[in-house]
Amino acid sequence: MKKKIPLLKILVCIFPLFTIGMIFAFRNILYKLSTHLPACPIYKYFHVYCPGCGNTRSVQYLLKGDVLNSLKFNITPVFILILGTLAYIELVLYIFGKNIKIIPRKKIFWVSIIILFILYYIARNVWNIAAL
Ligand SMILES: [Zn+2]
Repeated sequence: MKKKIPLLKILVCIFPLFTIGMIFAFRNILYKLSTHLPACPIYKYFHVYCPGCGNTRSVQYLLKGDVLNSLKFNITPVFILILGTLAYIELVLYIFGKNIKIIPRKKIFWVSIIILFILYYIARNVWNIAAL
């Protein structure tokens, strides 16, 4: 006899794929909408990149499928995309009975990631000042 797959498992598997498909289908509209966002007030008045500076342009390049140019403006969206993908894989494995951890759970790993991001945010401001 064939085993039935519960509806929740099907929804968990399909929903992210549906979301990605919708983003892909409406990527041009999303790109146009993102061009209407206001400039960062911190950069506008203090000429300093805040942690969010470049996220819009980074996502715009991601919508075009250009990961390298996306990384030039801000690494955060690509990092979140990778983390989200790994979390989604973990979730799918979990609902099918495999409790496999792909994302590291150790505190030292996450402290290291936070320190690296802080250094990144400082470094890009140093490069910005050097370029003036
Ligand atoms: Zn900013």
